[in-house]
Amino acid sequence: MMLVFIRLLPFGVALVLLLLTAAAYWQTRRRYLLVWSVVWGIATAYYLAQVVVVASAPEITARDSFERLGIVATSLGWARSVGLWVGARALAHRPISRRGGTLVGVCSVLWIAVATTLMGLPQAATVTRLGYGCAFLAAAAALLLPRPQTLVLAFAGGALLLLGIQGIVSNWLIMDVTGNIVSSWLSNTLMLAAGLAVLGRLLDEERELATARSRELATANARLAELDRMKSDFVSMVSHELRTPLGLIKGYVGTLLRRDAPLDEATREEFLQVIDEETDRLTELVTNLLDMSRIEAGTLRVDRRPTPLARLLADCADRLRAREPDRALYLDVPSALPPVLADERRIAQVVDNLLTNAVRYSPEATPIVLGARAVDGGVEVRVVDQGIGIPADKQDQVFEKFFRANASDTRRFAGTGLGLTICRGIVEAHGGTIWVQSEPGRGSTFAFHIPLAQEACCEPT
Ligand code: ADP
Repeated sequence: MMLVFIRLLPFGVALVLLLLTAAAYWQTRRRYLLVWSVVWGIATAYYLAQVVVVASAPEITARDSFERLGIVATSLGWARSVGLWVGARALAHRPISRRGGTLVGVCSVLWIAVATTLMGLPQAATVTRLGYGCAFLAAAAALLLPRPQTLVLAFAGGALLLLGIQGIVSNWLIMDVTGNIVSSWLSNTLMLAAGLAVLGRLLDEERELATARSRELATANARLAELDRMKSDFVSMVSHELRTPLGLIKGYVGTLLRRDAPLDEATREEFLQVIDEETDRLTELVTNLLDMSRIEAGTLRVDRRPTPLARLLADCADRLRAREPDRALYLDVPSALPPVLADERRIAQVVDNLLTNAVRYSPEATPIVLGARAVDGGVEVRVVDQGIGIPADKQDQVFEKFFRANASDTRRFAGTGLGLTICRGIVEAHGGTIWVQSEPGRGSTFAFHIPLAQEACCEPT
């Protein structure tokens, strides 16, 4: 009767662990919880089989109970022990390979054959306990060896290690009912500890998830703060960019309108010139804002036709020379450049923009190169300057809207941080790419690549 009671205890523990683990799996759908639910299920069946064997043969003593388990209970016991190893691997996220699985399968069949053959002999208990003990030790190793180690895995591994040692030495510990009670109490406690540690892994994972989420939130927050700063910079830049030309236009028109201030023809001409330039500046700003909103809304239209780029680039160079007669500008464009599928006006807008930036962000005495070459099924156009350059960590961001490199030397120049974003929008609408290579203090190369007329997709955007 005492023996039945002793065997009932682990059955109760395994059943409780089965219910808890299955409920946790139901809630979270974690794979390792499913594996452990199966392991505890097999363990429950094993302990129940032991109760049945012991209850049906009252003459069984504590010493020889393992010799009389029979093939069903012994196989269940083995399956539970190997299951602990499988569960340990699942817990450590180290799934078993096909080869490992086959090897364990073959060993299991051999072991069950040996244990069954010995059934009834005194050696049966030793073989059974040693077999179970070795499987527990393998499970412990699967949890204790991998690095980095976590507290929960170490705890579960420690419990399985002690369970393995207990399994092996219990062969000598169980001499009578008292020894059996001590051994059973030990193994129940260790099994409960291992089972609870498996559930503890859930807490660990939740904590890891929360840490990862808070890291993501912190990054998103920093990004939002940066966007916010860029927006306020943009608002102040736009108002400055609007106010400056408007102020100049108003001032000059006011002077021109005053009858009491006689102006000679040359001065009037000069004033009208300034008004003309400032009006152009205002028009450019409004056009940029409109283009930007079209790009954002995905409604920027490009009318792509086969276009010879050599002439287009020469026109851009002429426009820059007319605006900046003192600036050295070299054209490095082969005349036999294959035609690309492009919206002439839009690509000219990109090149003008890159040239304007090159002038704006480099000293007057330094030259600028406008080059092109046929490469990778398209044409690459590049604008090279020897100006202030862009720090490596800012190079990815220059194509983002409102972005202006923070350095004070950039801030000296008027600008809205929209030009390069618009360039990227236009180039991408052509199925191309745009990039920058730059070294602070040495200069920048802005380049874009668009496909050739026959390579490009013929759907107009
Ligand atoms: P804007 O020139 O109006 O500020 P852009 O979008 O054209 O706007 O450029 C974004 C930023 O990229 C500029 O503020 C500047 O910091 C940097 N940049 C662009 N072109 C160059 C260049 N050729 N050399 C150095 N920095 C540049």
